[in-house]
Amino acid sequence: MPNSRHQSEYARSLIEASLDPLVTISTEGKIMDMNEATVTITGVKRVDLIGTNFFEYFTEPQKAREVYEDIFAKGFVKDYPLTIRDHKLTDVLFNGSIYKDDQGNVLGAVVVARDITDLKRIEKEFIEAKVFAELATAIAEEAQSKAETATVIAEDAVKAKQQFLSNMSHEIRTPMNAIIGFTKVVLKTELNAKQKEYLTAIKMSGDALIVLINDILDLAKVDSGKMTFEQTPFKMASSISAMVHLFETKIQEKNLQLVKEYDNQIPEVLVGDPVRLHQIILNLVSNAVKFTTKGKITVSVKLLTEDEEKVKIEFAVKDTGIGIPENKIDTIFENFQQASSGTSRLYGGTGLGLAIVKQLVEPQGGHISVTSKVDEGSTFSFILSFQKTKASAEAEILLAEPEIGVKNIRVLVVEDMALNQLLMKTLLDDFGFERDIAGNGKIAIEKLKTQSYDIILMDLQMPEMNGFEATEYIRNTLQLTIPIIALTADVTTVDLAKCKAVGMNDYIAKPVDERLLYSKIMGVVKKPAFAIPVTEMKLSELYQKKIKCTDLDYLTRRTKANPALMMEMISIYLEQTPALISNMKQSWADKNWDALQSAVHKMIPSFSIMGIHNNFEKMAIHVKDYAASQQQSSEINTLILQLEEVCNQACTELTEAFNHIKEKANEN
Ligand code: ADP
Repeated sequence: MPNSRHQSEYARSLIEASLDPLVTISTEGKIMDMNEATVTITGVKRVDLIGTNFFEYFTEPQKAREVYEDIFAKGFVKDYPLTIRDHKLTDVLFNGSIYKDDQGNVLGAVVVARDITDLKRIEKEFIEAKVFAELATAIAEEAQSKAETATVIAEDAVKAKQQFLSNMSHEIRTPMNAIIGFTKVVLKTELNAKQKEYLTAIKMSGDALIVLINDILDLAKVDSGKMTFEQTPFKMASSISAMVHLFETKIQEKNLQLVKEYDNQIPEVLVGDPVRLHQIILNLVSNAVKFTTKGKITVSVKLLTEDEEKVKIEFAVKDTGIGIPENKIDTIFENFQQASSGTSRLYGGTGLGLAIVKQLVEPQGGHISVTSKVDEGSTFSFILSFQKTKASAEAEILLAEPEIGVKNIRVLVVEDMALNQLLMKTLLDDFGFERDIAGNGKIAIEKLKTQSYDIILMDLQMPEMNGFEATEYIRNTLQLTIPIIALTADVTTVDLAKCKAVGMNDYIAKPVDERLLYSKIMGVVKKPAFAIPVTEMKLSELYQKKIKCTDLDYLTRRTKANPALMMEMISIYLEQTPALISNMKQSWADKNWDALQSAVHKMIPSFSIMGIHNNFEKMAIHVKDYAASQQQSSEINTLILQLEEVCNQACTELTEAFNHIKEKANEN
């Protein structure tokens, strides 16, 4: 145990070891002793400190006094916050406890003031950081809300743009529809070479404009993420044939060859979007035709893989055209990109087609690529997957050449625009169909209550009652199953599902392609009449059914219903036909092939003029060919008898018609 000197030194070194101010105070609150840290922090010398009031050294003496009283009352204080009145105003946590003599009398208290400046600073910094963080969060939240507002504004702008483009394209398409349609009609009339040339130019420009409008509309849809893809069952083979068919005239005009390679292992019906597929192939083939001047274009469709559920198919369009330079190949799929600056001048186009093709292939999980060599040709190929199905294809795109003979079809056209009404009239007249016009859905419904039609061609946007409403009424209230085909100016945006939902059978885009219109009408109208090949039908049945074999539609149109002209034409037929029949029979009996050939040859043109089914014309051509090759055949005998029979029936019918026209003409 150290002696008393040692003890006091020991106590002093303990006191001095503390870096925090340490003082001993008397029961009266006077400072009795202190360490160096106290001298340093107060800046008051040791001698001057001794005997002074302890609480004077704090910013709040009153509080310090309370602490002091507390110590002596309780025997200790713990972590009491005070601030020393030094030049830095040091914050301290005050801890103290009393000490006693051997008899237990309280002599004073030892207090330590722990400097908590650093702690305070850290706390302050922490609070500041927290405030900053909160501020930053607030700023970020504001920025986010601004960004959200901006997004809403941008989305609204995109919507507005989309709406604007959709409206504009509709507005532009409607008159374009009339321009192209009437140009086509005028092109069919007798024209001199110059007129034909000018009109062809008008039609080509119109077609180009429609393509452009469609492209822009599609791009707007891609931009706004609105490009949607249908999942409908369709027949791949007929779909492809229909597309390829569209290019036949163009290919012939350019003296090119079109080859279709179709893999027959592909299942007949697949599920996908036939309209988009159509669009993709159409773009690629029209480019191939455009950039090729000699050689051939091959459209190939190949089955790559097949499993239980789906098939993967590779489509390729190969041409022997101008090719694409290597350094341009990477950019041609971008908007408004053409391989050379002269392309637009030489070949036309806008550089949008391939950008759209890419946007149609990739979102469907497909991939498009191109290989090309300048002056040798290009191959564009893309791979798409399709689901397999057991369902049958809902709508088939069939393209048929207008046939003579399928007549008596009554069409109700529901369309508000006068120009479009007139256009539909001319088209339907050309097909030889009967037609009636209703200016809106309401009028159509009134007509349907009193008259019967075979098919309705229904415009969608009309005043009073639009096409959707009218169809709904026809199906649900009138309970009619009559086929309805929607006429739409805007296939890409129109809700085709809605057409189906209200009960339409099919749709056709404006400007109406007349062959497509014809085939769609024929596809939904199932009229027996002459649809059954007459050659397979016993002629006696024909009589029993009292089906007329002649039809004066064509003659009426050709003569513009002029009775004198019609009667003249009919009388020529009536005069020459009996003689031709007997010549035909006689020369057949005499085996006089030249005479047989000549008699049948003279008969042929009259079939189409008098609206006799073209199967009879085919029979006559058959007989003529046999006669030319001078071959004996039992088949000819049957054909000659059938020709005789139909011509005799035609004469009877036409005599009646002649008298009817004459009576009518006399009445007027
Ligand atoms: P457009 O044909 O309207 O110019 P596309 O996007 O369809 O626009 O094509 C972009 C460019 O790619 C064309 O301008 C042409 O330079 C090039 N190109 C496309 N297809 C072919 C092709 N079959 N042969 C040669 N060049 C082609």
